[in-house]
Amino acid sequence: MKLTLLGTGSPVPSVKKCSAGYMIETGKDVVLMDVGPGTVYRLLEAGKRVTDVTHVLLSHLHFDHWLDLIRLVLTRWDTGHPDLPALKVYAPSGINHIFERLFGPDGALKLDITARTNHPQSLAIYEGRGGSGERPGPMTEVIEIGEGDVIEGETWKVSLANVPHCQPYLISFGMRMEADGGILAYSSDITCNPENGAPKGLYKLANNADVLVQYVNVFGVPLEASANQVSQPAFHSMIAELARDTNVGTLVTTHHGPHVDRDGIRERIIAEIGAIYPGRVVWGQDLMTFEVGQT
Ligand SMILES: [Zn+2]
Repeated sequence: MKLTLLGTGSPVPSVKKCSAGYMIETGKDVVLMDVGPGTVYRLLEAGKRVTDVTHVLLSHLHFDHWLDLIRLVLTRWDTGHPDLPALKVYAPSGINHIFERLFGPDGALKLDITARTNHPQSLAIYEGRGGSGERPGPMTEVIEIGEGDVIEGETWKVSLANVPHCQPYLISFGMRMEADGGILAYSSDITCNPENGAPKGLYKLANNADVLVQYVNVFGVPLEASANQVSQPAFHSMIAELARDTNVGTLVTTHHGPHVDRDGIRERIIAEIGAIYPGRVVWGQDLMTFEVGQT
């Protein structure tokens, strides 16, 4: 499988780093893990069309992990062939509510969807793309996921583990994808006391992973904070021990806010991790690609 980092940033808007999003190409499928703001633009920069996307898997429902799903659903529908299969969306509890309130018959987008499915000009465009008869609204298949669920495609499967982040308000899942002889782990966002070691769920996900895409960020300090304030040796040691103990091949850091994505801080964090973890450490940047297993 091929992994492309579509967004390695945080909720803070940035032209350099879009919010969370990762694209995996395996077999005929294009799978997105999270679709944060800006990541659809990065998808285009990576040479894909919105109509290429087959599956979306959301780790949790913080907006910086899903807001571009609105754009993806609408543009995939509006520019796609009428026979394009429904976009499969897997996400924690709450996603059905969001979709109903956005795309449902009385949803926030009702006026636009009604116009595009009824106005003669819109119907002419639809027919020009091969459509006929009544035009349906956006086609999605939404599945709410829970711990223990396994999500499968033709060439891949994803298992989930609950990770501590924003409970009880939001459920948060880390993911482990096995495909094409490779293993990709994604931590989702992690909020925990590093003195207690990495959460158990992360150990399960990361075990023998070729690539671990790992949350590394800091909140609650001013932008002008010093390296000492920004660098959190205990957190980075926890991540490094996790990667070392689970035999991860390449550790890719992500979810960087502007506090940590600075000269001097990056190097310091990489050094803190490298002091413990002997594998390859990559400071993730948008549009980096990784071959995981065979492709
Ligand atoms: Zn989050």
